[in-house]
Amino acid sequence: MRCVALVMAAGQGVRAGGEIPKQYRPLGGRPVLRHSLEVFARHPRIDAVRVVIAEGHGVLYAEAARGLDLLPPVVGGASRQASVRAGLESLSADPPDLVLIHDAARPFLGAALVDRVLAALEHHPAVLPALPVVDSLRRTRGERVLEDVERGGLVRVQTPQGFVFGAILDAHRLAPPMGFGDDGAVAAWAGLPVVHVPGEEDNVKLTLPEDFATAERRLLAAAPRRTGQGIDLHRLVPGRRLVLAGVEIPSELGLEGHSDADVVLHALTDAILGVIGADDIGCHFPPSDPRWQDADSARFVRHALELLAAAGGVLEHVDVTILAERPRLGPYRAAIRANLCRLLGLEPGAVGLKAGSCEGLGAIGRGEGIVASVLVTCRLAAPT
Ligand code: MG
Repeated sequence: MRCVALVMAAGQGVRAGGEIPKQYRPLGGRPVLRHSLEVFARHPRIDAVRVVIAEGHGVLYAEAARGLDLLPPVVGGASRQASVRAGLESLSADPPDLVLIHDAARPFLGAALVDRVLAALEHHPAVLPALPVVDSLRRTRGERVLEDVERGGLVRVQTPQGFVFGAILDAHRLAPPMGFGDDGAVAAWAGLPVVHVPGEEDNVKLTLPEDFATAERRLLAAAPRRTGQGIDLHRLVPGRRLVLAGVEIPSELGLEGHSDADVVLHALTDAILGVIGADDIGCHFPPSDPRWQDADSARFVRHALELLAAAGGVLEHVDVTILAERPRLGPYRAAIRANLCRLLGLEPGAVGLKAGSCEGLGAIGRGEGIVASVLVTCRLAAPT
């Protein structure tokens, strides 16, 4: 049985806010649409995937689908019903046996849900995933609560909805443009027997701006944790400023280096780069480059944070250790911590700071330099 997944991404998605349509907004570092495309593209029983997009969304689509093996997209119509029809017609020259029709705004469908819909399609021409209604239901008018609505026999319907291809194509060709809520409704209107299988509570539809925030939190909570380490050491010399974590500290000696030689921010940059498997700070900002002469090292940290965000990472915690025989750092502790919080967007409780000496042992103990060690902990959306 040949099965095609038809993913509907032709809406303008304006209710969800944001500058770009909701199906292309980033979620966990990837466009919303890409999440469901990956599920279908990876599923062993889905033979091909086609997306129905809106006029003018070609560039957004290409970015979201990059690297995935999909059929070329087709452009939808003025309504969801017209867009599904366009998608089905595009498949009719080489018709599959089965089609799954899915809304791109549901990025969290699982492979097991696809399996359930496909299993039921072996015996039924039209299958909807659905969940029971657990809250009590009331009819309302304005703020007035009217009568109780019996919830027995009611379900909440999701996608992907599965159909025998010829049957749903015929139903769409016959159906008047009357704003059907979904394809199960078109199938039922055409007289097809429609059955339901258990949906998934996680398979939510992103509609409002707050849905995105909730979805981001859920993705992050499920994302793997990673730790990055950075260590840096600079020599103390006369005639240089001493800058630690962006705080200038009065001292006769300062750290030698091409930039401002801020060991704390260099170690921090390396630790963040380590989380995403990137090269070290010297590869990103070579000391041979005159642009970094006396540079404020905060810019290195900001660059690493941008790379982290692009990889779907969110910083959770940093732990900083500074070893310096002199000057004593105690009086500058609060300023250093505050600067790190500001730079990283973390609460004070998420920034560990320890300043110690080397008890006179070794080069650091003799006051010849300062060393900083930083551990960062992040949540990182699964790389694709
Ligand atoms: Mg350095």
